[in-house]
Amino acid sequence: MTQDLKEMADLVSLCKRRGFIFQSSEIYGGINACWDYGPLGIELKRNIKERWWRAMTDREDIEGLDAAILMHPKVWEASGHIAGFVDPLVDCKKCKERFRADKLEAEVLASKKCPKCGGELTEPRQFNLMFKTFMGPVEEDAAIVYLRPETAQGIYVNFLNVHQSTRQKIPFGIAQIGKAFRNEITPGNFIFRTREFEQMEMQFFVKPGSDMEWFEKWKEVRMKWHEDNGIRKNKLRFHEHGAGELAHYAKAAFDIEYEFPFGWQELEGIHNRTDFDLGRHQQFSGKKLEYFSEESKEHYLPYIVETSAGCDRSLLVTLVDAYRFDGERTWLAFHPSLAPYKVAVFPLMKKPELSEYTDKVYQSLKKRFRTTTDSTGSIGKRYRRQDEIGTPFGVTIDYDTLTNHTVTVRHRDSMAQERVPAENLDQYFQDKF
Ligand code: ATP
Repeated sequence: MTQDLKEMADLVSLCKRRGFIFQSSEIYGGINACWDYGPLGIELKRNIKERWWRAMTDREDIEGLDAAILMHPKVWEASGHIAGFVDPLVDCKKCKERFRADKLEAEVLASKKCPKCGGELTEPRQFNLMFKTFMGPVEEDAAIVYLRPETAQGIYVNFLNVHQSTRQKIPFGIAQIGKAFRNEITPGNFIFRTREFEQMEMQFFVKPGSDMEWFEKWKEVRMKWHEDNGIRKNKLRFHEHGAGELAHYAKAAFDIEYEFPFGWQELEGIHNRTDFDLGRHQQFSGKKLEYFSEESKEHYLPYIVETSAGCDRSLLVTLVDAYRFDGERTWLAFHPSLAPYKVAVFPLMKKPELSEYTDKVYQSLKKRFRTTTDSTGSIGKRYRRQDEIGTPFGVTIDYDTLTNHTVTVRHRDSMAQERVPAENLDQYFQDKF
């Protein structure tokens, strides 16, 4: 019986052992809620970002952008982040554990008793999640700048620049991938909630009145993107924000949620932000951000439909969803297009004549597919190592290869094996990917 991932600890240890994800600054004891992507992790991450980028910018109606992380401090007044990007924080006076008051059960909060040790809880304090730093040599209030807590604002302040330079007409969108920083009170669950992370955000500018139609379209498009990444449909669902959950700027909001071992949690948010953002930036900057429609000769502030996905969170979903264990064998059943390596080529034994042939096959496949090779240990062990990093296909060169020029192709998920002529391998894998 094949099992899914039950304990996050199993995934954390696989990720470290095989070079997907390491704890940041590990030799110094680590730094909380920061993680480093190793050789395989970065390949997986690049594949996810590439798929997202292509899905967005291959469309005629979306342009790309890469805005700076540091922005004018007024941006964060206009966006509402200085006043409103706060979480209520309570501390346990005894065990020093911190909790987000909005995530504690009402009875626990009312009892003022720590859910961990029973100690006394402090009153909730408002805590701003933005990281602050200073620009220039003097550490004074006037020099405070923030590390952006979301990439979206870089898009809003460039709305006119992109519109005017590309001559895109509404409806159109701007897509961006970039780092964001939040001084989270309760980070955790591996890379699920970290203090430094990457977002993949797209802001779609539409005519007021057409916003709900576009909102519905983007909901469908984004759900399909996750499904096309190979994520199992029964592990994905929409969660609609009720009146109490809606952010101050939103008219409608749906989360795409995934069923993690620790429960259903947000993976991506799709929001109808109305004209809130452009309206606020227009007010705070004093610059007109209206759009002029040539056809209808109208001036108006566009409405914005946002799709906001976490890159690290998508990567975590990809790993969790791909994890399989059958009591003996562990493998990552990645969608082939996301797998860090597509093919692994092995000599059956470490013998010069087999190694020479292996190298020829390896050199030729690697021109088109990310390919690896491995000649240490038994062939069974080498297959297992590739299974654990999710390589979809293995190619083995044996003594028959030397005479009849066929190789064994082994499939990761079924472990089925078939003989394929060496000269057809290129075409064979082109058909698979
Ligand atoms: P929460 O209320 O759970 O803190 P949020 O609703 O504020 O999160 P958004 O602002 O909508 O989150 O962020 C959009 C996306 O960015 C999320 O769906 C998630 O994928 C990602 N994201 C947000 N915060 C983090 C974080 N601390 N670590 C990793 N990814 C994050």
